Amino acid sequence: MATAAEPRKASLPLPGGQAGATVKLHPLTVAKMRTTPGGLHREEGRLAAVKALGLRVPREQWVDIPVVAFLIEHPGAGPVLVDTGFHPSVAVDPKGAMGRFGGLLFKDIRMEQAEAVPAQLRERGIDPSRLATVVMTHLHLDHAGAISEFPEATFVLSDLEWEAAANGNELDGYNKRQFDHAFDYRLLDFESAESDSFASFGRSFDLFGDGSVRLVFTPGHTRGHLSVVLRLRDREALLCGDAAYTRSTIEESRLPYKMEDEHRFKRSLREIQLFAEQTPDALVVPGHDMRALLLMDREY
Ligand SMILES: [Zn+2]
Repeated sequence: MATAAEPRKASLPLPGGQAGATVKLHPLTVAKMRTTPGGLHREEGRLAAVKALGLRVPREQWVDIPVVAFLIEHPGAGPVLVDTGFHPSVAVDPKGAMGRFGGLLFKDIRMEQAEAVPAQLRERGIDPSRLATVVMTHLHLDHAGAISEFPEATFVLSDLEWEAAANGNELDGYNKRQFDHAFDYRLLDFESAESDSFASFGRSFDLFGDGSVRLVFTPGHTRGHLSVVLRLRDREALLCGDAAYTRSTIEESRLPYKMEDEHRFKRSLREIQLFAEQTPDALVVPGHDMRALLLMDREY
């Protein structure tokens, strides 16, 4: 790839941690788009692939899914973003946002200018150009689209995800132009001895060293996917990212059509399911579930 970006190894914790800190969570809806039922939840049989791609699926059967990002407010470290959603320009020109191949699985992108993450931060009094920390669950097109809008941020993600995206293409859901900037990328090696287990998760990092924001390794959707566990005021929250598109994935183990690695996806899903079982009052947030999103509060 072109080499504007020179990612470095993350050294954690990032500054700002406070003993016993809790964080606030604001779910941000960035856009809506449509996909096939068979893309969201894999169907069996000879036509599964054809149906997942929508070739024999009538328009009215396609389902609405949200594109989301999350704002976290940490008392010492300030605002932290999880994923960036689509670039603000997608509100004006939605065609091409998902690339040529993503456009097969995801269609009809609808996005208001006010829904772009920078606009939503500004509305909450946060200057996006000065945001200090962004955690990337992974670098797919619908998560990495607005990276360019946060030039001063430290971006934290897994080294395997960076490698996969840097060597990937639109067929894998990546677009290098979205992330190949001379920004401060910090990579986590979840296989290293610095990574600990946390709750049901075999591999985790404590972002600020105070237990308030933990990054847990959930590969399978992509090679280096991570999810985020938050300590809120009165409960924990698990932002699954695309390790689980929907509540049905978590509750009924319904797998999506597309997985980078099915074995790892199932292992990560099992860790998510165990977390949900062992922490029954936790807020567990799937990555692309419209119904689950509509039931969420504006702030936790
Ligand atoms: Zn994805």
